[in-house]
Amino acid sequence: MSTKSAFSLLRSVAANTPIHSITKFTTLDYPNHLACILWFAKCNMACPYCYNPRIVRENGTISTDEALRFLQSRQGRLDGVVLSGGECTLYLDLKAFCEAIKALGYKIKIDTNGTNPDILEKLLTCKAIDYVALDYKSPWNGYQTLTHYAHPKRVEQSLELLLKSELPFEVRTTWHSDFLSINDVNTIIEDLHVKGYKGTYYVQHYLHVNETLGETKEEQNKVDLSQLSKLLPIDLRNF
Ligand code: SF4
Repeated sequence: MSTKSAFSLLRSVAANTPIHSITKFTTLDYPNHLACILWFAKCNMACPYCYNPRIVRENGTISTDEALRFLQSRQGRLDGVVLSGGECTLYLDLKAFCEAIKALGYKIKIDTNGTNPDILEKLLTCKAIDYVALDYKSPWNGYQTLTHYAHPKRVEQSLELLLKSELPFEVRTTWHSDFLSINDVNTIIEDLHVKGYKGTYYVQHYLHVNETLGETKEEQNKVDLSQLSKLLPIDLRNF
């Protein structure tokens, strides 16, 4: 599809500014791709360890048209786009935006907290995305306490959609010993195993930064990772 057609796809998209900011280049955030990151403003969770309080709280400043013009200028130099945030699936016209990005020749990875299975299903059905990183933040019965989000069933639905799809995806959990125990992580691993998840499960250690959503303290208690269940292949990040 031509670039002109890609832009025309977006004529129906609301002329707002859903994107907070752009990271112009990353080799770390989309496996095997030279990518940029579009950070979508706002989130429907409030995880205390969130590194992106400004993105979660502030309004976006960049329109999808502006983002597409940026992507057009990077054609041939980048091959992937990460849609992160905040929570990109809160943007109602995400499918049209993804189709416009793909029309420019890019692969798309989305980082999602899984709270919008309806939009995820549309993206999967239309093959509008190429990779998903899904957060599984705590055992289901602890979700609301940790994230202040009251409907973890919707996250579970997103996980089940991904398990039924053929799309490559990963499941990941951010670890901080003030918020999760080894038992909690093992409960997540067991649930993934029972549901039939066959991929690598990523446990990401909280890296302390000064500004987090819940003014999270630096972790004092180191954990004994040998206590993690061996039911799934596990990759540790930032440990
Ligand atoms: S860490 Fe939590 S609050 Fe921050 S963007 Fe992700 S889901 Fe939203």
